[in-house]
Amino acid sequence: MDCPRCKGSMITEVFEDMKDDTGHICFYGYRCLICGEILDPVIMANRENRPHMQARNRKLMASSRA
Ligand SMILES: [Zn+2]
Repeated sequence: MDCPRCKGSMITEVFEDMKDDTGHICFYGYRCLICGEILDPVIMANRENRPHMQARNRKLMASSRA
């Protein structure tokens, strides 16, 4: 795994988060040894999903008002 920023080597690391209703969740991600960039599958998935959902909601609200 190469860092998208600096192309340095990244290591697998366990991260902990409190986002979920279930409480404590752990997941694996990557951390760059050179610049400290962090990549994790949860954040990447959220970044991809949320904008689409917001855009859809906005369109629905706009069309129901008009
Ligand atoms: Zn890096």
